[in-house]
This record gives sequence, structure tokens and C-alpha cells, in this order.
Amino acid sequence: MEKYIMSFDLGTTSNRAIIFNKDMEIVSIARRELNQYFPKPAWVEQDAKEIWSTILGCAIEAMSKINISHKDILCIGMTNQRETTVVWDKRTGEPVFNAIVWQCRRTADYCDFLKSEGYVNMIREKTGLVIDAYFSATKIKWILDNVDGAKQTAEEGNLLFGTVETWIMWKISNGKVHVTDYSNASRTMLFNINTLKWDEELLELFDIPKSMLPEVEPSAYVYGKTDADYMGGEIVISGAAGDQQSSLFGQTCFDTGDCKNTYGTGAFLLMNTGEKPIFSKNGLVTTIAWGIGDKVNYALEGSIFVAGSSVQWLRDGLRIIDSSEDTEYMATKVKDCNGCIVVPAFSGLGAPYWDQNARGVILGITGGVNKYHIIRATLESVAYLSYDVLNAMKEDSKLPIKSLKVDGGMSKNNFLMQFQSDITGVEVNRPKCVETTAMGAAFLAGLGIGIWKSTEEIKHAYKIDRTFKAEIEEGERNEKLSRWHKAVKRSFDFDF
Ligand code: ADP
Repeated sequence: MEKYIMSFDLGTTSNRAIIFNKDMEIVSIARRELNQYFPKPAWVEQDAKEIWSTILGCAIEAMSKINISHKDILCIGMTNQRETTVVWDKRTGEPVFNAIVWQCRRTADYCDFLKSEGYVNMIREKTGLVIDAYFSATKIKWILDNVDGAKQTAEEGNLLFGTVETWIMWKISNGKVHVTDYSNASRTMLFNINTLKWDEELLELFDIPKSMLPEVEPSAYVYGKTDADYMGGEIVISGAAGDQQSSLFGQTCFDTGDCKNTYGTGAFLLMNTGEKPIFSKNGLVTTIAWGIGDKVNYALEGSIFVAGSSVQWLRDGLRIIDSSEDTEYMATKVKDCNGCIVVPAFSGLGAPYWDQNARGVILGITGGVNKYHIIRATLESVAYLSYDVLNAMKEDSKLPIKSLKVDGGMSKNNFLMQFQSDITGVEVNRPKCVETTAMGAAFLAGLGIGIWKSTEEIKHAYKIDRTFKAEIEEGERNEKLSRWHKAVKRSFDFDF
């Protein structure tokens, strides 16, 4: 009888349970949307109990769709929206507040205060992170400071904190397992990525009792089992990683210098930098990619705020396309952009520019520029912005970029992928299974129970759909890049 691996993909907009067969093909998926709550502008919450009930529902539905039972599932791996913070009472299992979602800006002012007090370097050196409201530490502090009685209950040792995978493991094990993995711990802004321990000085700074924090374990590791009551019987949980790290793993970026780019609404680039953390001079974040056995791998991470959302703007704002997919065909109706460049700095620019007052520009407009040129230039801009992050990674790590693995909705666009290869001069590889995040968690879980003995073995289960190779010469590439960099500068400091 065939055996399966199940991934829990605990995402921001939805939860999904995905079942893989032994050839790592997806044989079943169940998905449930998550409600988002916006109590004030830029505040984002979710119901932690809904996160739990929906993923349990998905798990059962995914099994019943292909008529299998818990006995057919070898192990479960989890991957999650990172940094989202749940605090609950360990005596009752009740969350004391809604889950505060990573996007929530409620602690932005406090983060500015920390910066003005001179904590930037200390926090970067310990955690690899820039001080920002995204990360869990200030969200936990907010709950302790604002929920009636929370501080005291925490000090009495009765409150627990977890990112979403920790919360789900605790619930599904009926309170037996309170753990996180290195990759998730490294996004809390409480974890020292050098010593691999919760950092006492940071816990003191944020006034968070250590008793709230989960044990930190490797990403491929037998954390425990699901309680027999939930899925018909016990199932081993043996893999976990934050979504971007899980996708890096699912893309088999196991070697130093391996990079991946996820082209979704925004884009997330990660580079595996090996067993030592590299601290960026270009505003990239240093993070733990995963821990396996007694080793930890680090990564550099950079994100682009606007990727697929620029295509949504072409569709819903400018209304010059009907669907996202049209961009590929339309971009190839013209042979180039006819001198036009789009810089989609709709909400400022991230790494390596970090200008929150930058705004989008369309440059080089002449009478000959038509909508196809603008569509083409918009797609190209996503490749240019990705080039800039990759270049920053190259400078920080001093590592050559050998190839780029791609996933996310926009990676289906062959024109964009070809241009990405042209402009970076590196091979772009798109895998057959673009569910790399769920696949990473499944690989980790399989590694955790010995289905695969090493990452080398996992590479055999990874299949490439298409490779794009650079088709332009260095001279042309440099010319395009220098025009792009001139254009980017024109977008700076325009919000006044
Ligand atoms: P997310 O996970 O952030 O919701 P997805 O990975 O599902 O995003 O990707 C969706 C984004 O990709 C949308 O912004 C959409 O406009 C864009 N997109 C999807 N398909 C294409 C395509 N063929 N060409 C260009 N953009 C696309």
C-alpha cells in the first residue's frame, strides 16, 4: 500500500493541507480561507482558533478526498506565515488575544522608539534583523501590555507564545508539544542567531518571561505526535520551517550560494549562505534557513514590495489587460520597450534602496510608446528589482550566483523568466511542482523520520520543468542595467 507525507501550509490568506505520494506528486489538497480582521488602519488580526479549526478540517478533508486514513500518512511537516504571534493560556488552551498577523503595524511607533534609543546595531548583531513591527517580539510585548491580566499570568508561568506552527503543534498534540524550529525562532527578534539561544538581554528589553517561549529544535526533527482524537489516530510531526525558508528547502537550495525567488504579490528572495551568518551592508536581513542535526544553515533575505501587484495594477488600475496571464503574450507583441521604463515603487522601495518615500514612475515616454511597451516594461521592472536584490546578496556574501530557482504565480510567465535570466546572466530554473513551500515542509518531515537520509537524496525528488538561459551579451546587459539604475533614481523621495 502506498504511503504519503502531509504538509500543513499555514498561510496568511488560507490554510491548506497537501498530501504528497512517494514520488512527491501532489495527490490531494484541501483549502480554507482565513478571515482577516482590521480593527484599525494597518492593524491586522486573525482568530487563532479559526487557524486551528480550519487546518484540522483541511487535514481530514484532504485524507477523505483520496480515501486514506492516518495509517497511510508517514509524517506531517508544517510551514507557516512567519512572525504572526499567538499567546494562549496553557491551562485552558484559550488564546488571550487574536493572532497578531505579521503585516500588523500596531507596534511601528514603539519600533521607531527603539531605533531612536540606539538599539539598531545590538538587535542586528544578535538577531540578524532590522528593528521592525513585522517580527514577533514587539507583538508579544503589546499583548502583555494591553490585555487585562496578561502580564501577571505570563509571569506566573501560565501563558505560552507561539508562531502559527507552534500553536498548531501544541493544539494537535493536545498540549504535549511546545516547540518551534530554528527558522521560525530567527524571525521573533528574541533569538540569538549566533549562540542559537533565546537572548536574555532581549527578553529583558521587551519584558517577556522566558517561560512563555517554546523549545527550539531542528527543522527536520520528531517533535511529537498528533493526538489520536483528531485525525483518527496518531501521526508523527517531523518537519517545520517558516514559509520562505521552507520554499528555499523545497527548491533544494542546499548549497552555499543557491538562491530562490518567489514571485507572488511581492517577491521574496533568499540565498543560502552556509553555516555562518553573513551580516548585510545593503539592508538585507540575515536569517536561519533551517537546522538539520546539529548544524544550522543561514540565509540572506530580501523582499520586493511590488511584484505581481504591478500586474494587478495593469489589470485593475490601468485596465490595459484582462488577466495576469495576458501580459506574456502582450509583452511579446513588441520587440522591446521602445525606450520606456516602469519603476513600480508604489509603496516605496525595499532592499537595496530603502526609500519609503519613493513612488512609481514611467519614464522614456515618446509618441511611439504604446500599451504593449508599458506592459513589457512593467514585467521587466520585476526582473530588474530582483536583479538588484541578487546583486546585493552577491556583494554581501562574496559568493557567485550560480542559478536562480523560481516559484510563485508570476513565475509562470515565460517572458519574465527569460528576461530574468538575460538580465542576471544566470540560469533560471522553474520546478515542475511550484508548491515549493509545502514541498519543503514535506521534505523536512521525510528527512526527520529518515525517508530520505540526506539532502543529496532529496535532490532526486526535485524535478525541473524549464530552464531559461541568458540570451543577451554582457554589453547589452550592462546598457540595460545602467538605464534601469538611472530610472530608479528618478523615483526616489517623491512622497511629499
Ligand atoms: P500570493 O501568494 O502573494 O497571493 P501568487 O503566488 O498566487 O501570490 O501569485 C499571484 C500574483 O502573480 C498576482 O499578483 C498575479 O497578478 C501574478 N500572476 C499570476 N500569473 C501571472 C502571469 N502568468 N504573468 C504575470 N503575473 C502573473
